[in-house]
Amino acid sequence: MTTTITIDYEFDWGGRVKESKAIDQVTLPLLETLQKVDAKATFFVSAETVAKTLPMLRTIVEAGHEIASHGFHHDLKYDTLSRDELHLEIRSSKETLEDALGVKVVGFRTPQFRKNRYTEEVLSELEFLYDSSSVNTSLQGRYQERQHEFGLIPEIPVSTIYGRFPAGIKWINLIGTKFDPSPIRVIYVHPFDLLNLSDTLRSYSSKISPLVLAFYLARIGSPLNTIAKVARNSHTLHSLISK
Ligand SMILES: [Zn+2]
Repeated sequence: MTTTITIDYEFDWGGRVKESKAIDQVTLPLLETLQKVDAKATFFVSAETVAKTLPMLRTIVEAGHEIASHGFHHDLKYDTLSRDELHLEIRSSKETLEDALGVKVVGFRTPQFRKNRYTEEVLSELEFLYDSSSVNTSLQGRYQERQHEFGLIPEIPVSTIYGRFPAGIKWINLIGTKFDPSPIRVIYVHPFDLLNLSDTLRSYSSKISPLVLAFYLARIGSPLNTIAKVARNSHTLHSLISK
């Protein structure tokens, strides 16, 4: 089984707050953990974070991880954008990342798994090599809307656990590692999944609804230890599709 750890590298709380507390705090410990278990990860970077987090992003590149695109503005609902709006979002994110970091960006994951009717067409026009915007799940709603629809570009979906839950480190940490079979095991992580609990409370208890906060605070042990368990010898998505 080949595993990939993918990090959706975005502002705190899925871009609801334009702050990078989580990125600032957890990037270095995350890189250390990945190095300990000999893992190379794919970072899907929301390009709106670049101005604030450029030194961190350079450190990620130097450590040999892949930089891919997670769009430009994370809080847009990508599934509702027009073809032109989507094209602009994806192109500007690719160009921003390539110019800032001197890397070639060939992978994409749409924010919030909201895949647009035109995502595949736009990605193939912009010479992306793969898409990781869908989840192989029976859960209804945005996850299931557009699974591998047109086959215009190779698609590597996020894996699931227990038959349906997207394999986010948050879920894995809470309910365990019973992965469903898939050719490539794709796990995803957000920086704010790893933010230390007391900092999360101190920074955000007045800004985020108590229900959302409770969900994020529910965790067992350290999510970084959970990553260390599942990430051993994992590879970037780009290296896997090039094989
Ligand atoms: Zn995201």
